[in-house]
Amino acid sequence: MTKAETTNKIGTLYIVATPIGNLEDISERALKTLAEVDLIAAEDTRHTGKLLSYFNIKAKTFALHDHNEKQKAQQILDWLNEGKNIALVSDAGTPLISDPGYAVVNICRESGAQVTPVPGACAAIAAVSCSGLPTDKFQFLGFTPAKSQARQQFFISAHESGITSIIYESTHRIMASLNDLSEALGEQQHVVFAKELTKTYETFFSGPVNELIIFLTDEPERQRGELVLMLPGKGKETAAITPEAQKLIMLLEADMPLKKACGVAAEYFGLKKNALYKAIIAQREE
Ligand code: SAM
Repeated sequence: MTKAETTNKIGTLYIVATPIGNLEDISERALKTLAEVDLIAAEDTRHTGKLLSYFNIKAKTFALHDHNEKQKAQQILDWLNEGKNIALVSDAGTPLISDPGYAVVNICRESGAQVTPVPGACAAIAAVSCSGLPTDKFQFLGFTPAKSQARQQFFISAHESGITSIIYESTHRIMASLNDLSEALGEQQHVVFAKELTKTYETFFSGPVNELIIFLTDEPERQRGELVLMLPGKGKETAAITPEAQKLIMLLEADMPLKKACGVAAEYFGLKKNALYKAIIAQREE
């Protein structure tokens, strides 16, 4: 695609993913598209300006954020109809995924304009792919509700769904959210926490929510940064069980209570004691 080739034709809207931390994650196609389009719609033009200048791309940008995207949508459609090619980017990751762009893509699709993805980084997918939780089915729930009671209900519904939930959370609300999760589903509830993905201080924590609360309280610095929280679906806590651990638990159970047997097996195989116990209980309840 070159600017010359696109004159007198209907333009294309490119939904371009940008890195979520590590700039090496940008794709060659994303760089080519950003360099060749006529205009770039950016969530924050200053932020995107830095990315463009890092890659030595000179481009015209304009702001497209939650507060103006409905008004801008028709303007973008007009430009596409005039033959202009436009890229839409957000501050990080895949646009529209808890980011602006929905109103624009919706109006473009309804009007028959061409919309095409230039895929790349997305924190939700990066996090779940390394979570150790089932990935055959999962749901992305965006950010948690602002109020405590609504949040508890949110966690209960997420868990009841029976599939892995991926949740975005902000640094200032993470502790309140984890306390609500613990209140709603019990302090032994298994969770996976992913922080600062693709960045220097990337951290994963997998275990009972009460241990995660301690982990984050011990060093409050750990609460800072960009976070994804993941929750296994009810009855899917089996990720903590290995076939060998299960066999050992069955042997030990003849001589000791289940909880103790899980403790011994967890110690032997280097697994999380509480997560293993909870997973065995959930498995037996199924
Ligand atoms: N569109 C983005 C995407 O594709 O992931 C998400 C944008 S949303 C406004 C920002 C939230 O995404 C953050 O609060 C955090 O929950 C998550 N996030 C973004 N970058 C992240 C990273 N490097 N590590 C962990 N979570 C991240």
